[in-house]
Amino acid sequence: MLSPEKIRDILYQTDMHIHVGIELPIPLADFLEYLKNKDLVNIGLLDHFEMYYTPTRPWQFTKYLDKRRNRLPYKPTLKGLKDFYRRIQQVKKESHDFKVFVGLECQAPNLDRIPAWIFEQIELLGCCYHDTNLSISWAKNVIPVVKKLSELKRRYKIPIVNLHHPLRTRLIDYRDSFSETGKIKSINKIFGYSSLNEVASYLKGKEVFFEMNGHTCFHYLKNFSAGQNLFFEVHQALATKGVDFSIGSDAHSIEGEKNPLRHFVDHFYPHYMHNFSRLIKLREFKVPV
Ligand SMILES: [Zn+2]
Ligand SMILES: [Zn+2]
Repeated sequence: MLSPEKIRDILYQTDMHIHVGIELPIPLADFLEYLKNKDLVNIGLLDHFEMYYTPTRPWQFTKYLDKRRNRLPYKPTLKGLKDFYRRIQQVKKESHDFKVFVGLECQAPNLDRIPAWIFEQIELLGCCYHDTNLSISWAKNVIPVVKKLSELKRRYKIPIVNLHHPLRTRLIDYRDSFSETGKIKSINKIFGYSSLNEVASYLKGKEVFFEMNGHTCFHYLKNFSAGQNLFFEVHQALATKGVDFSIGSDAHSIEGEKNPLRHFVDHFYPHYMHNFSRLIKLREFKVPV
């Protein structure tokens, strides 16, 4: 049984959401060196499925790929994804500095389009989740996705399944309702307490982790201190209901990415340590000596 201090130390060294595929602007070896200097040890290395899968690729991805057409480290096709995994598997095998989790991030509507050969090698599936319909409750949006993820986890025995940045759309969409004095008008107005409770109780026993996403908190909400408070408030509400958390920066590059994870850990330590311990126990994370 790990002590709370040990769990905190592991979390300091853990980031389950790092993009090292098509969007990485520097060689992977240099990036790994950077992660090492940041004292990261347990790392989830992944990329977006949609970067490699043409039929339902979002226009933003197409625009990005067009702009960098001649400078892509992998082809934006499933063949390119195969090459990406070959590279990550190699890092996993050869690197003694890291405990690597081979991952994939996929948008919720595309989960059914992921070919079986991918499921066979990933240890980490992150569902890139955004509310699609803000006129219905948050719970009504989230719950069907958790159900799908839970089925996939069971069918393919994927060790870590995360709901990626599950708060993003609601927080961004409603940021006008944060008051100027930095006080939140109402958490209820944005998520609804009943909706929070519904999501929390549905998540229990599904073994789908709720990601604390660095990008949501520090990139999108950086000019809204009230937004940050709300971010923590929502997580606290879920934590008291026993929701299991995963932790990820959502870093796509070195520049401009402030690593917020230590801040999360400090903020939630020691009251909600338990909400991370299931994640850590799952797959023999490297424990600091
Ligand atoms: Zn995402
Ligand atoms: Zn991501």
